[in-house]
Amino acid sequence: MKNVLAIILVSMMVTSTMAAASQNETSLYSPLASSLLSSASAESLTYWNEQNLRANSSCLLSIVRSKMNSTKASALPELKFSSSTSLEEFQAAIEQWWGFRPEKFVNVYNANTNTLYLNNNKASYKNSRTPVDSLVHELVHFVQSKDFNASHEDGEYLEDQAVQVQTWFRDNYGLHIQNEDYQGPCK
Ligand SMILES: [Zn+2]
Repeated sequence: MKNVLAIILVSMMVTSTMAAASQNETSLYSPLASSLLSSASAESLTYWNEQNLRANSSCLLSIVRSKMNSTKASALPELKFSSSTSLEEFQAAIEQWWGFRPEKFVNVYNANTNTLYLNNNKASYKNSRTPVDSLVHELVHFVQSKDFNASHEDGEYLEDQAVQVQTWFRDNYGLHIQNEDYQGPCK
């Protein structure tokens, strides 16, 4: 009986110590800091990290160029991500080009304005697909247009080539790219 009581007492002490510790932890953060923390983690749950994608885009472009045998060296197009571009802004820009408003944010390179739109929403990518290989796909369209003066008449060929390079990239590097832990060839 004595032993049982002792165990109950010890477990009560442990519980109250844990409660005190967690209270201390919470009080370390000001309300502002904790709201910043929760919005940052909400963003990382929803989107692939935009800064990582941006940081790797020049290197990805050189991989695409070498795969396409281009020796040109023009700068990257303007990159716009769904994490920081409103749907309305995207729709208005694309409407000028396509003549209608797309329903959702899709990956597309607009050669008229030299802008590359990339959807980095996590929910849009399943299995081995990532915004990294989608970025590669759109960079192929950029190179076709900038380096090879591609014409819209060759639409089917251009799309086939973009899919081919994207698939090659995913087969060779896709396995090393795991969510936020980007470990592609451009690390
Ligand atoms: Zn395409």
